[in-house]
Amino acid sequence: MTGKLDGKVAIITGASSGIGEATAIALAAEGAKVAIAARRSDRLEELAKTIAASGGQALPIVTDITDEKQANNLIDQANAELGRIDILVNNAGVALTGNIDGGNTSDWRRMLDVNVLGLLYTTHAVLPILKAQGVGHIVNISLVAGRLARAGVGIYNATKWGVNAISESLRQEVLKDNIRVTIIEPGLVETEINNHTTDPVAKKISEERLKAITPLQSEDIAAAIVYAVTQPQHVNVNEILIRPTQQER
Ligand code: NDP
Repeated sequence: MTGKLDGKVAIITGASSGIGEATAIALAAEGAKVAIAARRSDRLEELAKTIAASGGQALPIVTDITDEKQANNLIDQANAELGRIDILVNNAGVALTGNIDGGNTSDWRRMLDVNVLGLLYTTHAVLPILKAQGVGHIVNISLVAGRLARAGVGIYNATKWGVNAISESLRQEVLKDNIRVTIIEPGLVETEINNHTTDPVAKKISEERLKAITPLQSEDIAAAIVYAVTQPQHVNVNEILIRPTQQER
């Protein structure tokens, strides 16, 4: 069977669950060799087995992307063991929502560390490799709230607005190097992301928003990523905004 990504190598951060896991499966199904990164090694090993059982190849690399050395190692190890890097999907993220007024400042630091600095570390490490190859694609996962601010989501909003700003600046910087940059902005997706929210009020609001509609599934977002990375080289899909049909804002 021939896939649209035969011979390509993709790195996916946050591959131990949700959107990252579905994306790794979808890219591998198109023929890409995938390096899968996150902190939970058991989940990565399980995913590697699932991909191998379908005839794909997955390399688990346990990584905390908030540690710059680990982020550098992820890129170097993937490049050394899989031979090249064509696609980096910066998907790892946390949504520790809650009001700014009286908010939990350690949650703020964690969101900035994972959603912004972690994404920057992997990006910084991969760029010299993509430039030397003369081709590459970076896909950054933002969200609808990267465009629309909402009470109770301010710092999460800020991190994803940051992701959008970083992505657009980078796109302009590296287009001369034949490197594409894509922003994916999903609405509500049913994953385990809300499990980590520490503020009980914010957690309840998120759960109720999810229950009120038919949410997106991780595979819906993976399909959008596959679309973006399988276009001809002269086409750069800059942004994809995807909401569940019933989501108003
Ligand atoms: P999940 O909680 O299922 O997945 C988050 C992933 O990030 C996990 O694999 C987790 O792995 C990883 N992660 C968290 N912290 C770190 C870290 N320090 N280092 C490495 N990996 C880390 O949530 P989703 O699949 O929903 O989220 C994926 C992305 O999609 C996020 O960027 C999120 O902001 C975005 N998004 C989600 C939406 C939703 O409604 N679910 C909507 C729009 C965007 P581990 O814990 O093993 O390290």
